[in-house]
Order: sequence, then C-alpha cells, then structure tokens
Amino acid sequence: MKSISEFKMTINGQAVGTKDVLPVVNPATEEVITYVPNANENDLNAAVKAAKEAFPEWAAKRIEERSEFLSKLADAISVNREELGTLLTLEMGRPRAAAISEIDGACYWLREVAKQRLKREVLEETENHRVERYHTPLGVVGAIVPWNFPFALSIWKIAPALLTGNTIVVKPSPYTPLTALKIGEIASELLPPGVLNVVSGGDDLGRWLTEHPDVNKISFTGSSATGKKVMQSAARNLKRVTLELGGNDAAIVLPDADPKKVAKSLFWAAFRNSAQICVATKRMYVHEDIYDEVLAELVAYAEQVKVGDGMDPTTDMGPVQNKMQYEKVIGLIEDTKKIGARIVTGGHIEDKPGYFIPVTIVDNPPEDSRVVVEEAFGPVLPVLKYRDYEDVIARVNNTNYGLGGSVWGEDLELATAIADRLETGTVWINEVGVISPHYPFGGHKESGLGIEHSLDGLAEYTNSKTIMVNKKKNR
Ligand code: NAD
Repeated sequence: MKSISEFKMTINGQAVGTKDVLPVVNPATEEVITYVPNANENDLNAAVKAAKEAFPEWAAKRIEERSEFLSKLADAISVNREELGTLLTLEMGRPRAAAISEIDGACYWLREVAKQRLKREVLEETENHRVERYHTPLGVVGAIVPWNFPFALSIWKIAPALLTGNTIVVKPSPYTPLTALKIGEIASELLPPGVLNVVSGGDDLGRWLTEHPDVNKISFTGSSATGKKVMQSAARNLKRVTLELGGNDAAIVLPDADPKKVAKSLFWAAFRNSAQICVATKRMYVHEDIYDEVLAELVAYAEQVKVGDGMDPTTDMGPVQNKMQYEKVIGLIEDTKKIGARIVTGGHIEDKPGYFIPVTIVDNPPEDSRVVVEEAFGPVLPVLKYRDYEDVIARVNNTNYGLGGSVWGEDLELATAIADRLETGTVWINEVGVISPHYPFGGHKESGLGIEHSLDGLAEYTNSKTIMVNKKKNR
C-alpha cells in the first residue's frame, strides 16, 4: 500500500487524481489529515463506463473464480490491517483497536460471502414440462456509503455485488473516503480493470451515480432523508434499490433483569462507536421496579468511560465523526436542557479542539421531546420509565423508523413475545448489534427497503430468471 499522503481514485484499474480536491479532517483534532480527489461528472461517467465494459467478461466467469477473487482481496486487506486501522481511526475517530477489528471483520465478511451460492432450482419436472429458476447479475452496481463504518459498509456491498457477477462503482462519504480509496488501490492489483471502481467527492457525486442511465442497481446506506432522494432518482431507469436507512431503536428492560449485571451491556448497546451505529439503542425503556437502580448503574459505568482521541490506547470512546453531526447532537442536548429534563451525567461540552461530546444520559424526558423522537446518532441517551407492557410496546412502535430493537431480561418467553410485537427488521434479546453475512438484515417502515446479507441479500444483486420447457412431442 502506498503512503498515507497519496489518495487516488480507482477507475478502470488506474489510479486517478483530480485538480479539485477535498480536505479530510481528523475529528479528534479538527486538523486536515490529507486531501482526496473531488470527482466531477466526467470522472463518474468514466467509472461507470469502465464498470459497464468490464461487466460481460466478469459475469461470464465461473462463480468459483469470482469467489476466489474475494478471498484474495481479503488476504491482501489483512496484510495491510494495521495501516488501514490507523487510517480508519484518523478519518473516523474510533479507538484504534476497534478500527482494526472493523478491518478484520470486513475480511471475515469477504471470505464468508465468497462461500455463498444462489442455487439453480428445478421448480417442476414432469414428463411434459420442466421449469427452472436461476439468478443472473444486474450489471453495474452503485454503492453509496455513510461515514460511521466506512470500511465495513463498503465491503458489505462489494462482496455480494462481485460474487453474483456484477461490477461496481463505490462512493464513500466525503467525510471518510480514505480507507475506501485504499480498497480500490489494493483491488486494482488483483481484479480485472473496471470490475471495482472507487470514486471520491461530495454529495453531488452520489446524485450523479443514482441518476446514471448505465447504473442498474443502487445499494445505499445512509439517512432516511437521503434514501428517499435516492429512490426518486433511481426511478428514472427503474434501477433496483436496496436502502439501509436510519433508526431510532429502543431497548426494553424487563423487571427481572439484574441491573448490576446488565448495565455494562446496556451501556455499550447505546454508546459503542460513540453511539454512531444505525442499530444503537437510541431510547431505553426501563421497568419502573428497577428504573432507579438501572439508571444509577448506567451513570456509574458512564463516569469511568474515557472519551478521547482514538489514537490514545487508553481511550474507550472517540469523538463524533464530523462537525455537522456534532452540532446536531449539541442541539439535542440544548433542547433537553431548555425543556427542563434532568441530565444525570454529561451534557457539558468542553471548549477544546475535536468533536468531543461526553456520555450524556437523560432521566425520563417527555415521550414527545426531541431527544426521544429524533435519531441522535451521537452520545446522548434518553432513559424512560414504563409500567405496563402494552403501553411500552405502543410507545416503542410509535415512530416512522423500524430498523432494530432489543429486549433484556431473564424470562425469555416474555422477551420473545414482546420481540414479536416490535415493528422492526431485527430484534435482539439480551444482546444488540449482532450482524452476520448469513442473517438477513433490513429495516421496516422508513428504515429501509430490501434486505442485505444472507442469501436473500445476495439475491438482491440479481435478476430472477425462469425458464420453462414444453417437452411434449406434438407442439
Ligand atoms: P447521509 O444520508 O447524509 O449520506 C450517506 C451517503 O449518501 C454519503 O455518501 C453521501 O455523500 C451520499 N449522498 C448525500 N446526498 C445524496 C444524494 N442526493 N444522492 C445520493 N447520495 C447522496 O448519511 P450519513 O450522515 O453519512 O450517515 C448517517 C445515517 O446513516 C444515519 O441515519 C444512520 O442511521 C444511517 N445508517 C444506516 C445503516 C443501516 O444499515 N440501516 C447503517 C449505517 C448508517
């Protein structure tokens, strides 16, 4: 891998720069780390053209061959895991050990997806008639990625797209383009030119990709607001879309949960990655019998968590990734103060460089307050009191989001019965955020459209094709 100062796009297997560049800021220091290409529409057109030209040959390869490319990509990424981990901390802010585990997780993902197969099925076989169904690739996939897991989320799209025979153009977030650009650089030494292209630039680049007539599918991860725009643009040529969008996930803590035992898991369910996870617990409903104890345990745990620069090995939680998000979270904290809700820990922003926000926990704010209703995507958590199961289920479901949620307690039958009633794509019981290449993942309501991961997710990178044969002699 070349040095940290060189960041180029990968188009048709070539390293491509642009005259115009974008700064990339370290969220822990607010200093510019480096500059990356700022692609214009011609650059995007070149990337799509390369992907379109590479498609027939790539699609014609045997799946075993494409699968081997994914495993080789995982090997090449693994060799660079330390450097990629450092880069990820510098651009994203997360503690370096967690950043390296994102790189390792992405390699695992590539290797696991490489093993997946969509089978050719015979649906009917009689003397006179045969019906077969199989999957064909779509063509060029556009992958649009947010800033919270820039490396893993790029790989989550690259692996299934390439395995199924598509070619791809990846567009990372302008806030965190560095590690995604490195994927392009590493892949250019392994893959045929044009199969995997990575372009960097602003939000316009995402729009051009979604509007491009030669792009056949968009796999988008980001906010619900942008997801709606993506769907609108994709309608122009009826592109297939998979949308993984925002969430306002609730945790429901049952009265038989042990506050002392459960507090640490509940804490990290909400605050891992500085709470910048689509499936982070963003509202925590605790039964009134144990409410005071759970709140006290959460606060005690929070107060020994160290927030700081991710490059410091003693840091538990990094900064918020960018200024826009930092100001949004501060806005929610200010609104919480304005309405007179009690902040039990945190809430005070120090005047120093870096987008640091302390762990902030709010004691039972009104159900319609902004901190409860909006997706914070940053370290402020409302803890809410409930008495009655029907009431808490209604409160939890009273949102346009439907991504995930969790139930915590000893009575697994009760927990499962409650999980059944939550209107979300995933519900975890006594855990949160377990995501696998083999389990379907997707949002209900405005949290998404379609499925990622598992064979269902893989199938979204294909067309379904049915062939029917009339075998009768006298036709
Ligand atoms: P965002 O919607 O602002 O941006 C996401 C990506 O879309 C970026 O690459 C951006 O440049 C691009 N983009 C912006 N405008 C566009 C347009 N008009 N057309 C096409 N692309 C455009 O989201 P974000 O702030 O980067 O990420 C945070 C959001 O992502 C949160 O809401 C979070 O919940 C969500 N998210 C969801 C999942 C999931 O799997 N459901 C996972 C991670 C993050």
